Amino acid sequence: MHTGVKTEQFIRILRNQGCRITPVVTSVVNYLFKTGMVRSAQELRDDVSGLLGYQVNLATMYRVLDRLLQCGIVCSMHKTDGIMRYYLCRNPQQGEHHHFICSSCMRVQEVPVCFSEGFSRYVEEKLHATVDSHFIQLEGLCASCRKL
Ligand SMILES: [Zn+2]
Ligand SMILES: [Zn+2]
Repeated sequence: MHTGVKTEQFIRILRNQGCRITPVVTSVVNYLFKTGMVRSAQELRDDVSGLLGYQVNLATMYRVLDRLLQCGIVCSMHKTDGIMRYYLCRNPQQGEHHHFICSSCMRVQEVPVCFSEGFSRYVEEKLHATVDSHFIQLEGLCASCRKL
């Protein structure tokens, strides 16, 4: 599959981190970039298999997604149904930021801000502890889904 100009930055980041660039890796990055959507490993396996023209092993898909997560290209979405879903971060080299996920169309938008200082200040002042990490998942209806 042809790697578009825009996905080259992701491939470069992966290569710099020693990730082996296989056809499955390239296809997953291209697919998530093009759709801008959240997908489960199973859905990704099915769609990417269709694009590549051969059946990708589910274990291979999980391995690829683990590598992409480690490299900070892909983020995971947590849902109460227990199924892990994945999406591409469009600005992986931007510092602390978050993502808005539309629960109707499953499209992801970058939220290039983080207001976690407020939480850290509270924890320091009230609990006399320090915050090392936080996880914020923003879900709702996107502008076009709200109009429906
Ligand atoms: Zn991002
Ligand atoms: Zn939507």
